[in-house]
Order: sequence, then C-alpha cells, then structure tokens
Amino acid sequence: TISMLAIDAQGNMSGACTTSGAAWKMHGRIGDSPIIGAALFVDNEVGGACATGLGEAVIKMVGSHLVVELMRQGLSPQDACRAAVERIVKKQKNYKELQVGFLAMNKAGETGAYSVQPGFNYAVHNGQENKLIDAQSMVK
Ligand code: ASP
Repeated sequence: TISMLAIDAQGNMSGACTTSGAAWKMHGRIGDSPIIGAALFVDNEVGGACATGLGEAVIKMVGSHLVVELMRQGLSPQDACRAAVERIVKKQKNYKELQVGFLAMNKAGETGAYSVQPGFNYAVHNGQENKLIDAQSMVK
C-alpha cells in the first residue's frame, strides 16, 4: 500500500491510498485500501490516518478511523497509531505473523507512525526537505 496525507497552507487536509492488494488473494478480494475508515480516513477538523499491511486486520477494527478518533480525544498522531497497533496485537492471536502499519497527521501538521513488525518507514516533506523515518514497532 502507498498512502499519503497532506495539509496545505490553510490547514486543509487530504489523503490518498493505493495498493496492489495481497499476494495470492482470493478472486474478488477488495482489501482495506478502497474502504474509507479502514486504510484511509481524514477529518478536516482533526487529522488523517492511513494504513498498510494485512487488510483484513485493518478492516476489522476500522483502523484509520480509530486513529483519527483517538487524535480527536487528544492523543498525538504517534500515540494514536501506537494505540491502534496495540488493539491489533490484543485482538489478533497471530499478530507475530502479520504486518500492519499506521501513519497519521494532525491539524497542526504533526506526524506519527507505528507498526506491528519492524521495517515500516515513511517519508515526511515539510515544504523544504524530505525526511525518511523508521516507525517504531510493537515487535522488536
Ligand atoms: N493493505 C493491502 C491489502 O490488504 C495490502 C498492502 O498493499 O499493504 O489489500
């Protein structure tokens, strides 16, 4: 999945999400990428979030919507992504065999990310420079 969150000079937010889907997927499988609230959710009052990884795990928890709602309650993007990953780890007995990563940005332009497994990184462009950041992960 390639997902993107953006904020313009007026503070308006947007997001996009695209995927090639999962390997060996069943014919007709949709995955989480085209489902608003699962792999992508943006609320211009609060912030946006997006996800990559095992779509079924993300759909079950409406993951990106959860991250945005946690930011609405006051969590930073980083803490909201971590809380969503903790929910996956709690609910998915096989979490050690799957990867899900969340990325979030709030109305202040602060970003955060968290994944189940290591190896999830993301790029931030702040108008001047690009930064590649390794997300923290639950499994070390
Ligand atoms: N989230 C995608 C899916 O489950 C897979 C990916 O591209 O990360 O369809």
